[in-house]
Amino acid sequence: TQDFIQTIEASRVLNAYVVETPEKALEMAEQADARLAKGEGGKLEGAPIGVKDLYCTKGVRTTACSNILGEFTPTYESTVTQNLWNEGAVMLGKLNMDEFAMGSSNETSRFGPPINPWRRQGDNAGLTPGGSSGGSAAAVSGDLCLAATASDTGGSIRQPAAFTGTVGIKPTYGRASRWGMVAFASSLDQAGPIAKTVEDSAILLDVMCSHDPKDSTSLQVEQPDWRAEVSKGVKGMRIGIPKEYRMDGMSEEIDALWNKGIEWLKAAGAEIVDISLPHTKYALPAYYIVAPAEASSNLARYDGMRYGARVDGDNLTATYEATRAGGFGREVQRRLMIGTYVLSSGYYDAYYLRAQKVRTKILHDFVDAFETCDAILTPTCPSAAFAFGEKSGDPVEMYLNDVFTVTTNLAGLPGISVPAGLSSDGLPLGLQVIGKALDESACFRVGGELE
Ligand code: GLN
Repeated sequence: TQDFIQTIEASRVLNAYVVETPEKALEMAEQADARLAKGEGGKLEGAPIGVKDLYCTKGVRTTACSNILGEFTPTYESTVTQNLWNEGAVMLGKLNMDEFAMGSSNETSRFGPPINPWRRQGDNAGLTPGGSSGGSAAAVSGDLCLAATASDTGGSIRQPAAFTGTVGIKPTYGRASRWGMVAFASSLDQAGPIAKTVEDSAILLDVMCSHDPKDSTSLQVEQPDWRAEVSKGVKGMRIGIPKEYRMDGMSEEIDALWNKGIEWLKAAGAEIVDISLPHTKYALPAYYIVAPAEASSNLARYDGMRYGARVDGDNLTATYEATRAGGFGREVQRRLMIGTYVLSSGYYDAYYLRAQKVRTKILHDFVDAFETCDAILTPTCPSAAFAFGEKSGDPVEMYLNDVFTVTTNLAGLPGISVPAGLSSDGLPLGLQVIGKALDESACFRVGGELE
């Protein structure tokens, strides 16, 4: 813990942490030592962890990196983080993220973006660590924590992991409790870890997930020994390769990475099967209707009365308006406008209802595909980490980065991203493994083989 605290102080240039809690960390580490001395330790006893600023942490400022939450300091702890502390983990601080987790580059944070510890060969330009869990990925990759919590609504665990050479898993919807996580799009949001290895991610996910009566979508299901899956190998497994993911204009490098992954799995005894997920091309548009719609409803609570910052106006309505105009950043405002529009009468059927129907089609595509395979292999992202400003001027360009990740959120399925190679200019690239509902085990098996 002392070592990490020192590294965090020496690496503030990375802007990964938005709150550092060194005193709390040392106190928790001492308690862990005392328990270990008595032979008591939990599953994560003494492990120093960073927490995405999306998780409410009792007595520690939590703003989802939005100005509208001001200096909001929760009086309660999220279920996921409480599960970590119950097993002896140590909290190092809160990690940078896109405002309300909306983004793919972490450039929408009120605190400015964290910086990817990786650089292109022969180029010193600052690169994004991805988003929205950019702080978590930068911190794990830069050795500013052993592992971190993250969250994934459309790829925010897996894409930052791919951009930083780390491992990230989004479990099946309902595995992890959403209680005490700042809500973005409730039917898509899932908690999960970013870690250095597939095994670490299995250990973390095991502790983070639990049945929670405080979240009505939390599942009451058995939790297998995921750690044991990591080294089982893939002999006899059927790995599906969806033809629709070989998109027009896909870079040669990503195509080659994918082929390499296929060859590795084949050599390890897996059977490769061609599959089709015909509605893939509708996933991105559907996601960018459903997610803003739910966000516009979830973020209605930030009215200047109940949480965080308030900008006073002449009357109540003027106070609401001034608070929201001043407190939300541009990307969040854009999504609130889209979300309100697609939910409004007259447009609801044309947009929101249609997007929900597409969502069902996408789920059925996966159900059909899993008749002939046990797991699906795809690239995590269409490119390696990009430079700051490269996509932030064009929202659609930014949204295209999520093309391979949003499908699992729409279908509620688990997906893991594992580092699988380097680009020609020396940046990490990730492969994604998608499992059946509740079959994180398949993700860990294939992920363990690819690592
Ligand atoms: N990049 C996607 C978005 O901006 C996903 C974000 C996330 O998973 N939190 O909505």
